[in-house]
Amino acid sequence: MIKKFYITTTLPYVNGKPHIGFAMEIVRADVLARHKRILLGEENIFFNTGTDEHGQKIADKAKELGMSPQEYTDKMSQNFKDLTKNLNISNDNFIRTTDDYHIKAAQKFWEIVKKNGFIEKRKYQVKYCVGCEMEKTDSELVDGKCPDHPNNEIEFLDEENYFFKASEFTEKLKEYFKKNPVIPEFRQNEIVSLIEREGMKDFSISRLKEKMEWGVPVPDDKEHVMYVWFDALVDYISTLGWGGEDETKFNQFWGWADKPVDSTVFQIAGKDNLRPQSAMWQTMLMAAGIKNSDVIYINGHITSNGQKMSKSLGNVIDPNEAIEKYGVDALRFFIIKHLHNHEDSDWTEKRFYGAYTADLVNGLGNLTSRILAMSSKAGIKLFDEGRGYPIFGRQHSKLENYDFNGEAEEIWKSISDLDELISRTQPFKLAKSDDSEDKEKLKVVLLSLLNGLWAVADWIEPVMPETAEKIKLAVKENKKPEEPLFPRIEK
Ligand SMILES: [Zn+2]
Repeated sequence: MIKKFYITTTLPYVNGKPHIGFAMEIVRADVLARHKRILLGEENIFFNTGTDEHGQKIADKAKELGMSPQEYTDKMSQNFKDLTKNLNISNDNFIRTTDDYHIKAAQKFWEIVKKNGFIEKRKYQVKYCVGCEMEKTDSELVDGKCPDHPNNEIEFLDEENYFFKASEFTEKLKEYFKKNPVIPEFRQNEIVSLIEREGMKDFSISRLKEKMEWGVPVPDDKEHVMYVWFDALVDYISTLGWGGEDETKFNQFWGWADKPVDSTVFQIAGKDNLRPQSAMWQTMLMAAGIKNSDVIYINGHITSNGQKMSKSLGNVIDPNEAIEKYGVDALRFFIIKHLHNHEDSDWTEKRFYGAYTADLVNGLGNLTSRILAMSSKAGIKLFDEGRGYPIFGRQHSKLENYDFNGEAEEIWKSISDLDELISRTQPFKLAKSDDSEDKEKLKVVLLSLLNGLWAVADWIEPVMPETAEKIKLAVKENKKPEEPLFPRIEK
């Protein structure tokens, strides 16, 4: 039986416009999904993304704008939907946590966890950062403030709430971490030492409706709505139909703890999401008897000219602007090749421009037009020679180890190998010769160049789908593309 592969991004919170950090996350997920589809077949891949839409921050923002929360989230969610289109993302579903089927699934999840004895009502006082929509322990606060939101006052909530008894899963979570689900290793070590040091703590998973009503209603208690994280994390399975009428996809792509299926569950997230994804969500799955995630891939952050991106500094990078100027494949390429797999990366226009010019205009674009100019002139065609398609051996791809940078390095190494083959064999000189031996040599050289170019197109397809298609078309027609693949851009 062929293995299945499930991929999900985190769901971005819709209180702002999509930024480049999320573009990085979703492009990586898309590259992996496209790679796996070629390797395992369309029907064996499920790729999820969407938007997270409940909670205090959304309610506040909508109020400020004089809109209902639903109107506000409808408008904001569309920005993310548009981004998936603009980035040429091949997701199988786009889930909104305000979708009916998600709300029903979140409620069913609550009921199961409660029935299993892991939800109870308690009185408590908590320190809460509205910026993170998360409770904070004293050790996480710096001078009594959230280090990520120093301008927000920490709120003290004193109320009766439902608690999720995550502490009961500390040992089981340690066992789970022995499988090394978190990539890279330094993030795996970070979460393991946090759990070793502090264990899992029970956390509040409801809010009083009279204080904040924009959430999923708690089943059988009209006074409470669910805490936004508790509802949102369930999207990873509600997207598969879990908790609905047809759970076929869930049973194929995810599965229960006692009924594991031959499928890999892959999650990708930014480093600020390490704890929710690898600890909170995993204990929630344990409490519901559902299989844990297999891989949790953690991205670094992107800085803008060496500084943290923030609205107040006005240095937030809009992925749509980069697409407009350089094209979607150029942005996808830059993310895969030039933004570090796991460390923070700096984004500057200069870096992007430099990479675009060196690797695409002078690299892949120039190579394509040189080879096809020579082969069309000489009338040497790859597919007239009765050759099969040279197919890139995808099972050897570095993407099998989730190494995006490594994959790009290898591709660009083979591009420079082809450049080198041209300088070494000088086919443009051979083309001028009337000598029959030179003619034969020219044919051999051009065929290996065309062969190599086709393999490169095959190889880059998950990263740059449109470019791969253009190159393949040019090779089939044996004609230099009329427009350069990557137009030179004036700085
Ligand atoms: Zn915060």
